[in-house]
Amino acid sequence: ATMPPLLAAIATASRHGVLVKSAVVMEQLGAVTQVAFDKTGTLTEGSPHLTQVRTLPGAGIDDDELLALAAAAENPSEHPLGRAVVRAAREAGVPLRPAEEFTSAPGRGVGARVQGRRVEVGSPAHLLRDGRGPAHAVVADLEQGGQTVVVVRVDGEPAGMLGLADRVRPGVAAALARLTALTGAPPVLLTGDNPQAAGSVAAEVGITRIRAGLLPQDKVVAVHELQASGARVALVGDGVNDAPALAAAHTGIAMGRAGSDLALDTADAVITRDELATLPAVIALSRRARRLVV
Ligand code: ADP
Ligand code: MG
Repeated sequence: ATMPPLLAAIATASRHGVLVKSAVVMEQLGAVTQVAFDKTGTLTEGSPHLTQVRTLPGAGIDDDELLALAAAAENPSEHPLGRAVVRAAREAGVPLRPAEEFTSAPGRGVGARVQGRRVEVGSPAHLLRDGRGPAHAVVADLEQGGQTVVVVRVDGEPAGMLGLADRVRPGVAAALARLTALTGAPPVLLTGDNPQAAGSVAAEVGITRIRAGLLPQDKVVAVHELQASGARVALVGDGVNDAPALAAAHTGIAMGRAGSDLALDTADAVITRDELATLPAVIALSRRARRLVV
């Protein structure tokens, strides 16, 4: 017997590097009219490198100590930023200290107890209370350069900041241009990162619609807003922070290689080789299969 068109399309998609979890999903992919992307680990490679270490005068903590405390707190983290901090400490020859009572809040950051001190590493929005002071001046300076900035707080007080930068995946601009042509709508960027870091990646890949500083729940609201305007929305993401929005989208698509288990489980489809060029190919494949189904 010949295979039904949607099942044949699933088999073809899997050869191209996209795992489509059901025939219904395979069919719905062709109906997508709006694609939204997460930034870190989705448009970018998700292996950022540490570019800056800034300590705050008065905290009594030097660069190596700041990195050591941050790395200890980040060690259990699966987040690309956490892995980058741990890698940077190892490369700098800073010994990894034991940490206890690890906590992690998606879209915000991590915390742990390191040698009796409470260490938190996370977004400026989460860890700096008011909008002024020397800590904010450093954050603004680092963000100006288009970097991701995380604050290190020790025993409740800001001790310093780390700047991190990630590379855009190769071929993203071309894949997005093809998606725009297929769906008729330019893609949207939804990120928890700061507006300047978002803007610098967006400019590199040709995205002009940007929502930055979003918590996981804000990404859900953003998806719902797109849906309320009549769009059939696909969201592409990789992190635990993207899981609620992946579930809210008509079609949730996860990045397979570096994606978190939660994102992979929640998504309707998984890009197994992390090549975004496969996305327009699979939408076109779905449309051909849909024409054959009727
Ligand atoms: P994105 O939407 O770009 O994938 P996330 O929602 O995962 O980003 O994170 C948003 C912000 O929260 C980060 O830019 C960072 O400031 C902070 N953050 C999240 N996880 C961590 C972590 N493990 N360590 C430090 N900061 C973190
Ligand atoms: Mg991400």
